[in-house]
Amino acid sequence: MKKNKEVIISGAGPVGYLAALNLANIGVSVTLLEVTEKIADDPRAGTIHPPTLEMFDKLGLADTLISRGYVVSNYHYRDRKTGLIANFDLGVLADDTRYPFRLMLEQHKVSGIIDSELKKFKNFKLLRQHKVKNVQQEEGGVLVEAETPNGVTEFRSDYLIGCDGGKSAVRRYMNVEFKGFTFEERFLVVTTPYDFAESGYAFTNYISDPKEWCALFKVPGKDDSGIWRVVFPTDPEQTEEYIFSDLAIESRLQGFHPKKDPFNVIHRNLYVVHQRVASRYRDGRVLLAGDAAHVNNPLGGMGLNFGFHDVINLTNKLGKILLNGADEGLLDLYDRQRRTVAEEYLQRQSIENKRNMENKDDKSREAFHKELQAIVSDPAKVHQYLRRAAMLEGIERERSIT
Ligand SMILES: Cc1cc2nc3c(=O)[nH]c(=O)nc-3n(C[C@H](O)[C@H](O)[C@H](O)COP(=O)(O)OP(=O)(O)OC[C@H]3O[C@@H](n4cnc5c(N)ncnc54)[C@H](O)[C@@H]3O)c2cc1C
Repeated sequence: MKKNKEVIISGAGPVGYLAALNLANIGVSVTLLEVTEKIADDPRAGTIHPPTLEMFDKLGLADTLISRGYVVSNYHYRDRKTGLIANFDLGVLADDTRYPFRLMLEQHKVSGIIDSELKKFKNFKLLRQHKVKNVQQEEGGVLVEAETPNGVTEFRSDYLIGCDGGKSAVRRYMNVEFKGFTFEERFLVVTTPYDFAESGYAFTNYISDPKEWCALFKVPGKDDSGIWRVVFPTDPEQTEEYIFSDLAIESRLQGFHPKKDPFNVIHRNLYVVHQRVASRYRDGRVLLAGDAAHVNNPLGGMGLNFGFHDVINLTNKLGKILLNGADEGLLDLYDRQRRTVAEEYLQRQSIENKRNMENKDDKSREAFHKELQAIVSDPAKVHQYLRRAAMLEGIERERSIT
């Protein structure tokens, strides 16, 4: 098969977009195949952590992202009954990163920014309404079949990256296990313009409760005037119709933040939450990244960031292989590095975050709250804690794997 130093990416979600940009920037030709007609703008991830901003900085986009989002230098851990437990000040990371804060910006806007940047590259092609259906590995390359409005079309490339989300067609082709579990309860995301900051909330808040924890954060919204998203667990017995009813949503919001007037709810979204990691990220010339490789609950805002970290690692290695003749063993290193941190950090931390917020045992919940208070009052402890929460430790761990 003819080698033309080209990579195909299945899926133009935020992770596929970033993979394409880094490859195009390095000088590798990229074809991005995406099933949908346009970037989906439903409410999903909205948090960008410091190491991710450092990666975007290398591509000249950090300032653009920052100008579009909210720079959030502290976040709250709260208890629904007793209020503020701990205020985490990310400023303690000032010596560790140029970006000692979280950036709140919706993921579809990040995709849009990358999409605009990619227009500058002649070695990049985005083909929408192209659904990857079939993959075959041939001598020295990959054959990808995509369903298009004009029938099935074949594409050939040196490598294929599956960035096609939690239900990845590429992962199915690779026939790898997606090990883990699915939570019984679905997560409800309610969006309102009501300004919780007036009541002392930070722009990001994790609020524990044995009956109904919630997470509350502010993102810029459609017209950049600011909207708040509240994430709640739901009872598996309740129907979607009931969960989405005005009455049920109003009573959930009033239950956690009572006020005189009803809330203006502008969006409601219910989704199934999984904790899974693919058992392999590589099969020959086919690779996985982002949600195609790992999925997790959103508490801590890490999943999408992890996907971004995957593709920066992977595409830098592909660049070395395709342009400098480096050994393909680098792709096994990608698998070892990124799968290990997905298991050690992403899964462990996100599961632990949820467990702490829903803890039903009064004694251990109190002990955990005391532990958090001890952490924030000790500069060395809070520094160590936030290095992990801000995902700096995960990147360091990845680099330690050789
Ligand atoms: C409803 C929902 C709400 C979420 N909320 C949060 C949240 O509040 N906080 C948080 O941190 N995370 C949240 N997440 C997770 C976060 O959105 C993901 O981690 C993130 O989208 C991962 O990006 P990705 O590019 O890997 O995958 P995706 O964003 O899923 O992108 C995959 C892309 O591949 C395309 N595609 C799929 N199959 C094919 C195919 N066969 N051929 C071609 N293209 C294909 C899809 O159309 C899509 O554009 C949420 C996820 C969902 C589904």
